[in-house]
Parts: sequence; structure tokens; C-alpha cells
Amino acid sequence: MSEQIKTIIEPARELPVREHRDVVVAGGGLTGVMAAVAAAQAGADTLLIEMRSHLGAVATMGLPLQGYCDRDERQIVRGLAEEFRQRLMAIGGATEFIRCTMHNPYIIIDPESVKLVCQQMIEEAGVSLLYNTPVVNVLKDGKRIQAVVIEGKSGREAVIAKNYIDCTGDADLAFRAGAECDLEQPDKLQTSTLNLTLTNVDIDKVKQCLVEQPEEYKLFELLNKDLVLKNPRFILVGLAKLAEKARLEHPEWQHIWNIACYITQIAPGTVTINSVHMDNLCACDTRDLTKIEMLGRLRAQEALAFYRGYIPGFENARLASSGPWAGIRETRRLRGVRCLTVDSIVAGECPPDTIAMGGYPVDIHDPDTNQLVFYKVPAYGIPYGCMLSPDVENLLVAGRAISATHEAMASSRVMAQCMALGEAAGTAAAMASSAGISPHVLNIDSLRALLRKNGQFLE
Ligand SMILES: Cc1cc2nc3c(=O)[nH]c(=O)nc-3n(C[C@H](O)[C@H](O)[C@H](O)COP(=O)(O)OP(=O)(O)OC[C@H]3O[C@@H](n4cnc5c(N)ncnc54)[C@H](O)[C@@H]3O)c2cc1C
Repeated sequence: MSEQIKTIIEPARELPVREHRDVVVAGGGLTGVMAAVAAAQAGADTLLIEMRSHLGAVATMGLPLQGYCDRDERQIVRGLAEEFRQRLMAIGGATEFIRCTMHNPYIIIDPESVKLVCQQMIEEAGVSLLYNTPVVNVLKDGKRIQAVVIEGKSGREAVIAKNYIDCTGDADLAFRAGAECDLEQPDKLQTSTLNLTLTNVDIDKVKQCLVEQPEEYKLFELLNKDLVLKNPRFILVGLAKLAEKARLEHPEWQHIWNIACYITQIAPGTVTINSVHMDNLCACDTRDLTKIEMLGRLRAQEALAFYRGYIPGFENARLASSGPWAGIRETRRLRGVRCLTVDSIVAGECPPDTIAMGGYPVDIHDPDTNQLVFYKVPAYGIPYGCMLSPDVENLLVAGRAISATHEAMASSRVMAQCMALGEAAGTAAAMASSAGISPHVLNIDSLRALLRKNGQFLE
């Protein structure tokens, strides 16, 4: 029997260099959109490269909840994120702030409006955009990235920039550029989730049960029942007794989460369920990622049966859509010049090199216990060095892959913080490109002054 070959050599080849830019941003989630807009507005010739066919990524999965405020109800994320919020509101794509004792004040956003507003902001800022184009490789020259390699329908091409911003969520560029990254073992990574959007839900029915049978229909301890009852749109977390009952009555439903969690959409009678969860799998492993998507499709049926059978108001619910792909909470994190720690978050530290503010609770979907680990924190500052790798001179990493510990990123990973980080990275990359210097030696006071001038909040 002939032995199967284990490796194969891909011949080197000459690539066409199709773009020369000041700044290249990889990944068009909310982080990448704000990074690209900020870079272009600060004068950089900017290209945004997205491997899928729309902008907004995780914010378009049906997940409608965004927090811009700290626990004292101060709006701590402003700047471009605030412009985004205003634009959404102007087209009926976002609510006013809704008070919440668990998540801090939040707004509910409409996923389709997110796609549109992101693209409009990109076009108006003069950013060039490539859709359906993954970044597949990074070419280095010493400690600098010389080019990134993209592979779309036109084939393999190189793109050269002065500075690069990694907004892929998975630190794809940083990793391929040889920057050190941290990655938890699969059994410690936060769960991945396929979100399900259901229509034909009687939204008010659960409220009646909360009033009439408060013990049976108990909410998560931090969630104030009166605020849920008062608001026409809300997030509901809890009903643990119903989940327990369902699991006892249906031992075959192995993957029902210990609590129910759903968010009402702007569209009437429509909610998004923040399940189904997949754990013990790493989303930057090709085969694990395939398993995540396949399991999500199957487990959706269990979740659907649970909601229809046990949660008031869902009796006639229909599955309108599942997320365009499974939502990934955690993969690689940059090992940066600075590292955001949970101690600094809990202490509310705001160091002098703060370039974005956080304040969202620590929110861990824990694979070990199948529980939500959730606690509130004060407002805190995210230092500039969390976006820089000691190993690469012309790269910034923004969004959920910044340099932070597992527990700290459970707070900094949310959308509003990601937008603020994107804005800071884009502004820094543009300033460094125009000065012909590395982002590592950028004057942080000047960066902070420009961010403030552009409306960002940094205290
Ligand atoms: C299930 C779930 C529920 C959540 N709920 C909330 C919530 O209610 N509120 C909240 O504020 N936050 C929530 N979060 C967190 C938050 O949504 C995300 O962490 C945040 O949106 C991340 O934004 P991002 O732009 O950094 O990354 P992403 O949104 O992941 O965007 C990354 C983009 O990069 C692209 N990309 C990746 N690799 C490449 C490549 N090699 N080449 C080109 N493009 C690439 C992807 O296609 C994608 O468009 C949730 C997250 C998940 C997974």
C-alpha cells in the first residue's frame, strides 16, 4: 500500500500588486468600518477588505443590543459610534436609550439598517471597499508588513500599505505576520452561538406571567423586572425554572441553555434568541468551525421546540432566519505592548494613554458550567498599547482581538467598545502614515487630542 503524502510544496509565484494605499483595514465588522472611516477622515487613502458580502458582521446577526453607557448611565462611547447611532435613528433603525439594571442603558438596532448605514458611512468617507475578498497571507520585510495577499474572484493579488489594521476579530493578520497571540484551550473559550430570529411572537405575554407568577417566571438577578414590564422593547434573561423543567421533561434536549435569553427587535412581534451555543470548539480551526456551523443548524431545532413549548408568547413563533454565520465570541487575542486586565477594569483605571472607554459588564458564556458569568464594572480606559504588537511595526489590532486577558475581553469585546477601538486605530494609522512613522512611536497625546476633537470621550 502506498503511503499517503503528509505535506506538499506550493510553488512561489509572482503576484500582481493591485493596490498601494496609506492604510489597509482587514475585516468589515463594526470595528473595521469605524477604523476605515476614521482613517479616511484623517486624510489617509484607505482600503477596507471584507471577506463576506456586507458590512457590520456580528452586529447583523440579529443581535440588536448596543450599550454606549457605563453603570452610572454616562455615555462613554461617542465619536463615530455616536454618528452611527444617530444615523440609525434617523432611518428608524435604532431605539432611544432603554434603561437597564443589568446591561447599563442600551439601544436596540435593526440588523438590515446596520448593513446600509455602514456602507453609506464608508462611501461618504471615500474609503475604497472590496467585498468577498479574504486576506489570506501577510508578507513581511523584517518587522514590517510589506504586503497582504488577498484572494477573491480575480485570483491572488498583493496589496501594499504604509500601515495595516487587523479588524478580523480572530487576529488573522497579526497571527500571519508572526505576532504573538494568546488562544485559550477549546474548553475555556467562550461559547459560539447561532442566533435565531423568530417572528409571530406575542411579546407582551411573558410580561403577564412575570406579574402573575413571579417565582415561576423569575428573571436573572441583575435584571429589574419593573423596567422590563415598562418598556415596549426589552432584553429578557432568566426563566431558569422553565429551562430546568424542559430539560427534565426532554432529556434528549441536551443543549438547552440554563436560562432563556432573548431580545425584542424593532420589527413588531420579532425577537432574536441569543442561543444556540456550541462549546469546546475553536473557531480559528477550519474543521472545528465547520462543526460549529453544522451543530448550530441541528441544535436550532431543540431551541425552537423549547421556546415554543415553554416560553410564554412563543407558542406560534416561526423561525424567520438564523445568523448568516455562527457568532464567535472568542478566539485569538494579541499579546500586545500593553494588556487589559480584569483588575484594571474592576478598579476603573483610566491610564493616561487611554484611547477608548469601556464600561460594559464582564459577560462570559461559560462552557464549563453552561452558565452566564456576568458582573458589572465601572467605566475604565483601554490603553493604546493594547492594539500594538511588539513584533510588528506597522500593524494595529482593533476589536475583540486586542491584547486583553480572557476575562477582561469579556467586557471589552462588545460592539460599542469595538467601534471606539476601531476609531482610535484608524485615526492612529492615518496619523502615522502621514508622518511617515510607526504607530509605535506616535505621540499618544496628539492622538487623544484628535479623538477628542472628533467627539470621542476619554475620561
Ligand atoms: C453570539 C454573540 C452575541 C453577542 N451579543 C452582543 C450584544 O448583544 N451586544 C454587543 O454589544 N455585543 C455583543 N456581542 C459581541 C460583539 O457583537 C462582537 O464582539 C463585535 O461585534 C465584534 O466586532 P468586530 O468588528 O471586532 O468583529 P466581527 O463582527 O467578528 O467582524 C469581523 C469581520 O472581519 C471579517 N474577516 C474575518 N477574517 C477575515 C479575513 N481573513 N479577511 C477579510 N475579512 C475577514 C469577517 O467577515 C467580519 O466581517 C456578541 C457576540 C456574539 C458572538
